[in-house]
Amino acid sequence: MSTESQLLGACPECGAAIPPGAVLVEYERDDGPVVYAECPECVEPVHPS
Ligand SMILES: [Zn+2]
Repeated sequence: MSTESQLLGACPECGAAIPPGAVLVEYERDDGPVVYAECPECVEPVHPS
């Protein structure tokens, strides 16, 4: 059991680190996986990069 707390990335709006628990939607597309997560700072869905 490993509880890795790997960050998803940073909010493109404010630069805050997005924790893995903030994922709202995750799906695969032809050009790669797409993840939307709620930014803890903006409190809205963002596309972590
Ligand atoms: Zn943000």
